[in-house]
Formats: sequence, C-alpha cells, structure tokens
Amino acid sequence: MATRHQHDVLVIGSGAAGLSLALHLPSHYRVALLSKADLNQGSTYWAQGGMAAVLHNRDTVDSHVADTLAAGAGLCRRDAVEFTVSNSRRCVEWLVEQGVDFDLRDDASNQQGQEFHLTMEGGHSHRRIIHAADRTGRAISEVLSERALAADNIEVFTHRTAVDLVVNDGRCQGAYILDQQSDHVDLFQAPAVVLATGGASKAYLYTSNPDGASGDGVAMAWRAGCRVANMEFNQFHPTCLYHPRAKSFLITEAIRGEGGKLLLPDGQRFMQNFDERGELAPRDIVARAIDHEMKRLGADCVFLDISHQSRDFLHSHFPTVMSRCDEFGIDISAEPIPVVPAAHYTCGGIVVDTHSLTDVAGLYAVGEASCTGLHGANRMASNSLLECIVFAESAAKHITDTLEHAPPPAKAAAWDESQVTDSDEDVVISHNWDELRRFMWDYVGIVRTNKRLQRALHRVQLLQAEIAEYYGNYKVGNDLLELRNLAMVAQLMIECAISRKESRGLHYTLDYPQLLPEARDTILRPDNSPL
Ligand SMILES: Cc1cc2nc3c(=O)[nH]c(=O)nc-3n(C[C@H](O)[C@H](O)[C@H](O)COP(=O)(O)OP(=O)(O)OC[C@H]3O[C@@H](n4cnc5c(N)ncnc54)[C@H](O)[C@@H]3O)c2cc1C
Repeated sequence: MATRHQHDVLVIGSGAAGLSLALHLPSHYRVALLSKADLNQGSTYWAQGGMAAVLHNRDTVDSHVADTLAAGAGLCRRDAVEFTVSNSRRCVEWLVEQGVDFDLRDDASNQQGQEFHLTMEGGHSHRRIIHAADRTGRAISEVLSERALAADNIEVFTHRTAVDLVVNDGRCQGAYILDQQSDHVDLFQAPAVVLATGGASKAYLYTSNPDGASGDGVAMAWRAGCRVANMEFNQFHPTCLYHPRAKSFLITEAIRGEGGKLLLPDGQRFMQNFDERGELAPRDIVARAIDHEMKRLGADCVFLDISHQSRDFLHSHFPTVMSRCDEFGIDISAEPIPVVPAAHYTCGGIVVDTHSLTDVAGLYAVGEASCTGLHGANRMASNSLLECIVFAESAAKHITDTLEHAPPPAKAAAWDESQVTDSDEDVVISHNWDELRRFMWDYVGIVRTNKRLQRALHRVQLLQAEIAEYYGNYKVGNDLLELRNLAMVAQLMIECAISRKESRGLHYTLDYPQLLPEARDTILRPDNSPL
C-alpha cells in the first residue's frame, strides 16, 4: 500500500549537503531525510583530500577567492565565490562542533587558526586543505549521519528513490518516492523541498563516483521547470584503476608526484609530447593526453609505473593504493598499474542563488546537484565539500526565515499505477545503461568534436524515446529511474557542449580550440531555448 507523509521540510539526499542542511534546521521542524541507498553511500563518503578553508594565518579570503576565480576560467560568479570563501572558517568550526576530528598539526601551537594540519593542493596558493587523514569525506559523513539519526525531529528514510517533484501553482510541495523494499511509490509532502542528490558522473563509462551518481536531482528539477547551467563542464580525474572488478577506485595523483611515469601499452612514455612538465602537468592536461593516446591506439587503458620505488616506500606512502592493487594481483612495486581517466565531478547543475533557491518556489538545490557559480568552468580541488556545507547552511536559514509564510501543500494525487504492468524484459534497461555510458565516454568525454557531439545527440534522443515508452508502460524500479534521469542529464550535457563554441576550462573541443573573448554561462531552460 502506498503511503502519504507530511513534513515541514523534505531533504532528498544524505551526503554532506543534505545532512548538514537537515542539521541546521530548527529542532521544532519535522524533517524527512531521504537517501537512495544507505545513509553513507554518496560521493561524500569517498572524498579523500579534504576541504578548503581559509585557516592559515598567512592565508586570506582574497587569496582563496583569486585562486578559485583563476581555476574557473572566467565563469565563476564572484559573489558566490566570495560568499563561499568568507564562510569557510565558520563552516569548519561548525563541523568541529558536530564532532568531526580533523587532523591537527604535529606541533599544534594553538595559535589562532593554526592548530589544524593543512595540506596544499593543485590551484591553491596556500596550505588550506583541512582533512582527516585521507578519509575526510568518511569522517564528515559518519559524524553528520550519527547526528541526524540522533535528532528527534529528523526522520530518516533509506533505500528510497525520489521519482519526481510535486509542483502545484508554481510551488514545489513534495515528491513521489519509490520505496525500494515495498516497490510502492509514496507521496511525501512539505512546503520546502531540498534536492541534495549529488552529481551525474555515472553518465560516463568510467567514473570515480559511487553508484547512484545518476543526476536524479538535476533531471527532476529540469522536469519541474528549473534552469540548468554549465553541464558541459565535467571534471575527469586522470587515473582510475582499470580492472574489471575494481569499480571506481582512484589512483592518487601523488603517485605521479613521487616519480610515477605514464606509459603506453608498448612501454613508451608519452606525457612529454603533450606538456614540458610531463607527468606533473595539471590534471586536465594529463587526462586529455591519456584520452588522446587511448583513442589514437584504440587501447583499453594506459599504465602508471611507480615500480622504481621500493616496496617499503610504497607501503608507507600509499598504503591504500598498494593494498587495493594487491587485491587484484597487481604488485605496484614490480609492475605498472593499468589506469584510465574517470568522470569525477559535475561542475554544472540546477541554477540557484546564494540561498540555494531554484527557479521554482519552495525548491532548493544544494551540493553537487546545484550550480551556484562557485566552480565556473573548472572546480578547484577541495572546494566542493566546502560548497556543500556553506550553501546548506544558507538554504536552511532561508527556509527558516520563510517557511511560516509558505502555503501548506495542497492535496496531491497519489501515484497512479493502474495503467502499467511489471516489466517483462529488464535487459532493455541494462542494455541502454551500457550503451549510454559508452557513447558518453566516446563522444562527450575529455576531448570533443562537433561530429562526436552530434552523434551522441542523435543516440541520446533515440534512447530517450525508448525509455519514455518503457516508463509509460511498466512499473518503475530504481534502475529504470536512474536510466531515465541519466539519459535526461546526458542530453543536457550534450546540448550544453554543442552550444559552447570555444574551449574553456574543462570543455575542450578540437573544432573550437580557442577561448572566446567573453565568458558566458551555458544556461538551458526547460522550454529548450538557451538564454
Ligand atoms: C572519490 C572521490 C573523491 C573526492 N574527493 C574530494 C575532496 O577531497 N574534496 C572535496 O571537496 N570534494 C571531493 N570530492 C567531491 C565531493 O565528495 C562531492 O562533490 C560531494 O561530496 C557531494 O556531496 P553531495 O551531498 O552534494 O552529494 P553526495 O555525497 O553524492 O550524496 C548524494 C545523496 O543523494 C542521494 N540521492 C541521489 N539521488 C536520489 C534520489 N533519486 N532519491 C533519493 N536520494 C537520492 C544519495 O543516496 C546520497 O545520499 C570527491 C568525490 C569523489 C567521488
């Protein structure tokens, strides 16, 4: 039996964004917090490096802002960057109050702002990455999940997939939610709804993201009438382990920092042909070079060789990489590691303001699902967790300030399954999943051309028609819902990429290698007219 639920705030997603938003709401609000799998299975849990914040006494807000703007290649919104960075210290303090144990300096002096151990990452001109060893996301995720589970006003629902939003008179007032255990689609109503559903990197064959990063929030917001922007800017990590059983395992860039060499299948080095810094060139250049060589040779992967270092050295510096590779029979002290680049981060998303409010009243988007203007055409390392926490707090404040004036949700119709039957051929879903992720990888990947993008557009339109037909005839399940959303989001990515006639930030096309003099966002409207 499908059920109806009524809350003050419905938060869809339990990563850093959704959890912190729920925890920032006043304790007299009744909050529903939903996740598609277990509470800790979003990208947040897997974040390794840490979170950027202005904490060092020689660092400044201006410097962090300037670095972020430079990385964003002319497309960051300055107000969003300043807003995020100037709130960074406070957000760290809030996380510490919640109980997150960030690493301290060995010689913790307790001078103001200096007690944390801060690391340096690409693009940052100061040490400003606060971290909990190489498991920062896990530390944040576990602590905030515990807090949410302990809060009397937060009702947690796991293994629930949001299907679509309920919009009434231009206001979002809830969502239809699939209960994966009962297979019923329930109705959750609330005067404020938050999409904290993470990114869409699962649109690509190779990704560092966990299952579930299927862009559900972006697709739902689009169907509900929200603008979506800058979806052509997908960040690729250069080196993910290539092995049939190794899903989504990153090989840290620090391996190249310690002298790791990239090799073609015949053992030749190639990075020096692309950049004089060789393997130490920035992330995008390395990813592009690997992609070029794989496409040129039709190779499945390239190799990363760190075998000149001793087993002891590797064990002390890269214990996680070493043990994971060992599991697959790869001894990194004796042989090169097979690697491929992998889709890592969705810079674009649902257009929001600094309150994280979307175009539809009552609907907010936070975290990787949103496009706040912070990242522009390229995300600077470790700014994403920061964005989640800063914008979650801001959205919670806006909800608190406005909720009492919001009209109570009107009675909405229950989910209607009277016209559909059980699927008779799930192979259609798995086949289309594979096809979509393969052509997105081949045609809308790291290096694009007009021809490749047109091919992808043609294919995604065919897929969309097939999926719509399937969706209209059969009962929904999690895989079908994710496929439907992925196809939608893939189309948005392709349309954004086609409309950008230049190479900027993460978008690189052989047909327009130059940068245009004016930087403009790619904004798509649901009526399909680019702004
Ligand atoms: C391997 C890896 C390493 C990274 N390292 C760093 C780093 O060091 N520093 C940094 O700043 N960033 C890093 N990132 C990026 C960062 O982790 C993410 O951008 C951030 O955690 C996203 O948080 P989120 O709350 O927006 O989404 P997520 O943490 O992805 O959570 C999404 C949530 O939404 C739920 N959900 C999705 N769809 C639905 C639906 N239809 N119905 C119900 N629930 C749904 C999911 O179940 C999940 O609970 C890394 C990412 C990866 C993958």
